[in-house]
Amino acid sequence: MIFIKKNKHPPRAIFSQVGHPHRGKVKWKVATNQVLRDYAHDPTPFNNGKYLFSADYGGDEFRKKLLECQGPKCAYCEKPLYKGAIEHFRPKTAWQQTRRAAFARPGYYWLAYSWDNMLISCTVCNQSGQKGNYFPVTGVRGIAPSDCSGENCTIINPTKIDPVIHITFNLSVPVGTVVGGRGDLNIEIFKLKDRADLKSSREDHLSLYQAQKLISNLPIGNGVTRQKKKDARAHLKKAQNPKYPFAGMIIENIRKGLI
Ligand SMILES: [Zn+2]
Repeated sequence: MIFIKKNKHPPRAIFSQVGHPHRGKVKWKVATNQVLRDYAHDPTPFNNGKYLFSADYGGDEFRKKLLECQGPKCAYCEKPLYKGAIEHFRPKTAWQQTRRAAFARPGYYWLAYSWDNMLISCTVCNQSGQKGNYFPVTGVRGIAPSDCSGENCTIINPTKIDPVIHITFNLSVPVGTVVGGRGDLNIEIFKLKDRADLKSSREDHLSLYQAQKLISNLPIGNGVTRQKKKDARAHLKKAQNPKYPFAGMIIENIRKGLI
């Protein structure tokens, strides 16, 4: 996880036409207002989980702008992705305070079209068993429609706080900064340590960084050309760009002098 600098307001283009399953083309703000009216009119579909939100929550425009802010990678595990899934930080349909608890409804439906509540994640981080509808908080949970300012979320919102406060890396292994603290909880929630594909992807990125660093330090000759050294230096720079996959891991290892 790495801090994501997100535009405070939705890009202007997002206020243009977006789809809604029942009402054809409506504006984004209108979609939010419509959801609020629908709830006021009849909360039943929200309480039984059958309310139909627009499947694209603003369409490709939202997705494109989100990917511009966070880079083509998952907001939680930093794995590279091409399209990814629009992820609602506060789940729109239902929430669980504990893994075993039944779904509590309604969810944060009034945030379904909120730019502030949206990220792009990989399908694994987004799915049940990882984040899914699991959204534990302490303090006062926001009851519809609320500003949620009384909630302290356990899950790290990388657009609000710098995850490095809670999660660091020892080479390719994510580690909580405090034993049993919020970092450890997030590592467990997203299975950041245990997912085999994620683990090997991180290891590959780290090995590539180390190999390129080696080339950048070698003298010219024996197959090491000026161009190869230039390319290696360019890679080292790119790998530290916060929008590059696993930049959080690379930056932390450099800071700690491990690579
Ligand atoms: Zn992910």
